[in-house]
Amino acid sequence: PVRVRFCPSPTGNPHVGLVRTALFNWAFARHHGGTLVFRIEDTDAARDSEQSYEQLLDSMRWLGFDWDEGPEVGGPHAPYRQSQRMDIYADVADKLLEAGHAYRCYCTAEELEERREAARKAGRPSGYDGQCRDLTAERIAAYEAEGRSSIVRFRMPDGPITFTDLVRGELTFTPENVTDYGIVRANGAPLYTLVNPVDDALMEITHVLRGEDLLSSTPRQIALYRALAEIGVGGGLVPAFGHLPYVMGEGNKKLSKRDPQSSLNLYRERGFLPEGLLNYLSLLGWSLSADQDVFSIEEMVAAFDIDGVNANPARFDLKKAEAINADHIRMLDVKAFIEACGPWLQAPHAPWAPERFDAAAFEELAPLAQTRLTVLSDITANVDFLFLAEPVTDEASWVKAMKPGADALLATARAKLAEAEWAAEPLKEAVLAAGEEHGLKLGKAQAPVRVAVTGRTVGLPLFESLEVLGRERTLARIDAALA
Ligand code: GLU
Repeated sequence: PVRVRFCPSPTGNPHVGLVRTALFNWAFARHHGGTLVFRIEDTDAARDSEQSYEQLLDSMRWLGFDWDEGPEVGGPHAPYRQSQRMDIYADVADKLLEAGHAYRCYCTAEELEERREAARKAGRPSGYDGQCRDLTAERIAAYEAEGRSSIVRFRMPDGPITFTDLVRGELTFTPENVTDYGIVRANGAPLYTLVNPVDDALMEITHVLRGEDLLSSTPRQIALYRALAEIGVGGGLVPAFGHLPYVMGEGNKKLSKRDPQSSLNLYRERGFLPEGLLNYLSLLGWSLSADQDVFSIEEMVAAFDIDGVNANPARFDLKKAEAINADHIRMLDVKAFIEACGPWLQAPHAPWAPERFDAAAFEELAPLAQTRLTVLSDITANVDFLFLAEPVTDEASWVKAMKPGADALLATARAKLAEAEWAAEPLKEAVLAAGEEHGLKLGKAQAPVRVAVTGRTVGLPLFESLEVLGRERTLARIDAALA
């Protein structure tokens, strides 16, 4: 059975790379009818925070992910927060020491740096040189007497490590490049290098799908899994690994966590639909087919497998993300669209007084908005003319639309609108006729009307908007513009 894990560290706002990793693991688990384990890697007290943890869970829920084991749902391998599993790691570290798979290393930071520097100068690999691998009892006693502290270091096997990456194919790492590494700090705190594979072993993870940035730790972890199997920790399984391609941002540089474009909150606050965002993120290293970029999450799950993931770096393209999100907005049924707009029709997004909001008026225009929005947050500016006591004043729009002659046109239009039957089609006829009197085509004639009534040069179709706004308010606004 497939058992995968999503195991972020709660260290700040979730970023798109993290979401892509979660998505691929989730889709892989669901595609194979497997189990998704959600584990929180919060052993770094200095960097992890409870707030980030809450935010992580909230983000996962917002995206629509579910997990079979983990926070809030529990499971046979609970607890799923590493900060609550410290006894387990201490115990495993002892066992590794006892079996000789790990040893105490007394080298000080300065000594290590000095030797690393020397190796670099001599053109030799600069990983750990094995100084403390086989210390005699006397040497150890002497170090202890000196009061030196020690870390626990994992002993890498002598031969090369070869594995078949599910994305990249067969990879081999030679011992010179993968040297003995620390697994427990001098103060007893276990490191990522230990806790991550220990939990994968205990939680019987079958497939590790994660970012390419972690590729260099894979040979070390494979060696550790083998050692764990030998000492009877976990089910004895070495998981298969698949490393997801880098995501490149601006200027062909790796998209970094600190890049504003990579913050999940940004997309959420702009009103991306979770399904639109996930659809886009799925394309970072994967595709459903050569000619279909837009699909539902169900279609993705049905088609997703790790052998379809590409090893080449993926380009993050905001424009494409927006276009795909826009398509997902179109795909909603109107009721779902209206519901999705909800948050943007309220404080703090909405600038109008809550009691001025009129759901029926909004629902009349909603279908027109649905075919035009890129992100849901745009809804606010598209309908604010309905709910503000006076339209916003957008200087640029005003200057653009209120050219010389605009007043005369507006006056004619006002007179004709005042006589017209109050429905989109006759309103359009009225403005068309006003334009004709002034030698203007409809597009030019409606611009001043639009700005007078909505405050902006762009917006929803004008005559439908006027119909919903009503005769009285429309005429009053034109009067105000003429005053
Ligand atoms: N906690 C690690 C991280 O956030 C997990 C890495 C892994 O998937 O092994 O990067």
